[in-house]
Amino acid sequence: MPSPQSYVPTLYKARRVPTKQVVCAICVERTRGRTKELNMGYGVSVWLCEAHASREFQTQRGGRDLVLTLQRLWRAHGCLTAARDKALRAHLAALQGPNARPRPGSYTWPTLRAEAEHHFAAGAPPHTVIAALRARHAADTARAPSIRTMRRWCAERRWLSRPP
Ligand SMILES: [Zn+2]
Repeated sequence: MPSPQSYVPTLYKARRVPTKQVVCAICVERTRGRTKELNMGYGVSVWLCEAHASREFQTQRGGRDLVLTLQRLWRAHGCLTAARDKALRAHLAALQGPNARPRPGSYTWPTLRAEAEHHFAAGAPPHTVIAALRARHAADTARAPSIRTMRRWCAERRWLSRPP
């Protein structure tokens, strides 16, 4: 029988796993290539490899692939918090299409929202995007959407249900 060290997966001195970056939350010791932070709204984010962060994987089977996987991982880590649970539900809701539920605020500032969503979808940190866009409209006569509203735009992740 081989010693446990020879077959129990571990990140300690794991071969071929890049050490200068965060591992993919799903691949763990099988992480290959670059990882990036995916913001899911509600202050929840997760680091994923290119394949797991791809639009294709995120939208696969109506988002259930990603949601089920993260739910089970977070349960295993003992960190399936209310916020994480909310973020997962929002992910599924985002993939039920634009008519799945009323979206207040989608009539106002549509261009600004589209621009914000473009940056959110590309993985830009929500607080940076929101601060930059609000700063740009600070001098406008019309009051720009609140931080809370713009955070909701990020959490709703409407871009997932639309073609790229
Ligand atoms: Zn991965």
